[in-house]
Amino acid sequence: MVTYDEKDRFFIARQMMMQQHLRGRDIRDMRVLNAMEEVPREAFVPQRYAANAYDDNPLPIGMGQTISQPYIVALMTQALHLTGTEEVLEIGTGCGYQAAILAKLAGKVYTVERIPELSEMAQAILGRLGFSNIEFYIGDGSGGWPQQRTFDRIILTAAVQEIPKPLTDQLKEGGWIVAPVGGEWMQDLIVGQKSRGALLIQIVTGCRFVRMIGKYGYDEAP
Ligand code: SAH
Repeated sequence: MVTYDEKDRFFIARQMMMQQHLRGRDIRDMRVLNAMEEVPREAFVPQRYAANAYDDNPLPIGMGQTISQPYIVALMTQALHLTGTEEVLEIGTGCGYQAAILAKLAGKVYTVERIPELSEMAQAILGRLGFSNIEFYIGDGSGGWPQQRTFDRIILTAAVQEIPKPLTDQLKEGGWIVAPVGGEWMQDLIVGQKSRGALLIQIVTGCRFVRMIGKYGYDEAP
C-alpha cells in the first residue's frame, strides 16, 4: 500500500487513475493494481507532461514515440497472468514504464528498443528507481531476442500486421503473448497462448499503437 506523503504531489492524480481508469474498469488482478500504484509514472514522461502523467491517454516521449495510456498498460499486463517467477520479453521499451510494471510482477524482464536514445533514457530512469531485474537490448526486436532462447511471456508494445513467427518460436509452450495486431492506424489487442506450437488467440479490445519497424514489422517510411 502507498501511504500518503504530502510531498508527493502526484498522490491524488495516481489515486484518481487507480479509481477511475483501472479499478473502475476491468482491471481486477490485485498484483497488477498494486504495481500500478507503486510505480511513479511521472518519472517516465518528459518534464513538461508530468502534470498529465496519470491522465488516461498516451503521451509523447520523444523521437516520435508514445507511452501507452495507463489502462492499456494495466490491461496488457493483466492478460499476461504473471505470478512472479516468469521471464518476460518486451519488444518496444520506449520510456520503460511498461517494463517497470512487468519487473515488479515477474522474475526477469528482457526488453528490446530500436531507438538508442529511448533505451538509454529508459535505462537511466529504471536504474534511478532501483530496478535490477531488467536486461536491455538496442536493436530490431521484431524477430525476438538476439540470442536464441525462449520466454514464459512476450509483450509487443508496437503494432504488427501479424505475430512474427520468430516471436512465436521464442514463446514457451503454454506461455502467453499479448500484442496489438492489425493495420497501421487501428489494431486489435490480442492475447494468445501457445498450444502445440501454435497460438490460440482471443481479441481483448481495439487499440492504437505506433508501428513496429523492422525485419518482421513495417518498413521505416510510412
Ligand atoms: N512500452 C513503452 C511504449 C512503447 S511505444 C512504454 O512503456 O513507454 C513503442 C516503442 O516500440 C517505441 O519506442 C518504438 O521505437 C519501439 N519499436 C518500434 N519498432 C521496434 C522494433 N522493431 N524493435 C524494438 N523496438 C521497436
